Amino acid sequence: MRKYDEFHKSVMVEEVLKFLITKDDGIYVDCTTGEGGHIKAIYEKTKGKAKIIGVDLDYEVLEIAEKRLKEITDKIDFFKASYTDIDIVLHGLGIEKVDGFLMDLGVSTFQLKGENRGFTFMKDEPLDMRMDPDSDFTAWNVVNEYSEEKLSKIIFEYGEEFKFARRIARSIVNSRPLNTTFELVNSVKRALPPKERYRRKRHFATKTFQAIRIEVNGEFNNIKTALEKFPKFLNTGGRICVISFHSLEDKIVKNFFRNHSELKLLTKKPILPSDEEIKENPRARSARIRVAERI
Ligand code: SAM
Repeated sequence: MRKYDEFHKSVMVEEVLKFLITKDDGIYVDCTTGEGGHIKAIYEKTKGKAKIIGVDLDYEVLEIAEKRLKEITDKIDFFKASYTDIDIVLHGLGIEKVDGFLMDLGVSTFQLKGENRGFTFMKDEPLDMRMDPDSDFTAWNVVNEYSEEKLSKIIFEYGEEFKFARRIARSIVNSRPLNTTFELVNSVKRALPPKERYRRKRHFATKTFQAIRIEVNGEFNNIKTALEKFPKFLNTGGRICVISFHSLEDKIVKNFFRNHSELKLLTKKPILPSDEEIKENPRARSARIRVAERI
């Protein structure tokens, strides 16, 4: 059940529609349905003529999208699956080719604000951070079972916590066992000099939480696996549109598009959100879109 007032604010909706939709009666797959904001926009833009498939591995968030969209249509097919299994989903539907794949990476507002998901340092909850509630690997495993070296590496790379990764990893290891998000926040706090904590524009634990979330969900490997599968399922002229929020995600997408001869890059430089959108939705600040077309 919904425990907060607003739906997730979908980012860069106009830009997604402009690049993803090549024909109203096409087949479009939203690989990261979340609360269904982009799907709603695609449905409206194509005047209900498109076939839309919504995939997400979080059944709680998928339920919200389904309920939200049921009010306007019952024609959308929702699947609780990872986008890494997109081939299985499409085969199951008997679909050989589609006209567009959309990926909007990162976390949804539901996951951040939902109860006991453990994604946020704003609430004291068990260390979880699973996007797939059926998975049995959680933030608890990363925080309590990884070596100091391995923790330091993911905090450095995935969190881009360049200067303090080692100190944070050491502090986590010395604070074990850690069971809750606030215990993790406190061990990050102990690792950072007060001056550094106050200097930061964002919460001082943001980067560490991001790193652990990426590790728990194997996010970067999943993106690579899914991208490799998309081209085979695209009609000529069909598109892959990816919204990323992390420089390493963006790098994966950029390199993939550049190195695939069956794809033509439509965005030489990534498309960024307008100042207006950033003002309205600060989460859009780090969003960037890259698009490629099947030739
Ligand atoms: N575009 C959505 C909207 O407008 O409401 C928001 C998407 S949200 C930023 C990202 C979603 O991707 C989350 O709901 C998350 O569960 C989902 N996700 C993350 N990894 C996934 C994966 N491997 N397969 C399918 N969905 C995934």
